[in-house]
Amino acid sequence: MAGEPQADCLFCKIVEGKIPATVVRETATTLAFRDINPQAPTHVLVIPKAHYPDAASLAAAEPLVAADVLTEAALVAADEGLSERGHRLVFNTGAGAGQVVFHAHAHVIGGRGLQWPPG
Ligand code: 5GP
Ligand code: ZN
Repeated sequence: MAGEPQADCLFCKIVEGKIPATVVRETATTLAFRDINPQAPTHVLVIPKAHYPDAASLAAAEPLVAADVLTEAALVAADEGLSERGHRLVFNTGAGAGQVVFHAHAHVIGGRGLQWPPG
């Protein structure tokens, strides 16, 4: 069923506490934790607790939870002192865009200069 935990999903295991993570924020619908391989001084992943493979499928099925992910991403940025300094939200979608974990997640990246356009 859509949104149900997937046994083979790394981020579902983090939600279930089966794999440890450095959690920075949690709500009823979302979890935010530090990326294990940070690409910047701040690199936090914000995920829906429900399993959807990418941001598009999350938004189509549960738009209110998709909004929760954006709200939490903004609060992570604020907690990290990046509201005014600037930060980047990234939803890699599909293998061709570099997505490797197929549980929807926002990258909150900041704390250094960020190039545009991205690679
Ligand atoms: P993607 O490339 O799918 O957009 O991003 C997946 C992210 O998950 C990568 O930045 C990667 O470093 C991170 N990641 C992969 N495995 C783990 C893990 O076990 N724990 C944490 N905290 N992050 C992970
Ligand atoms: Zn999952």
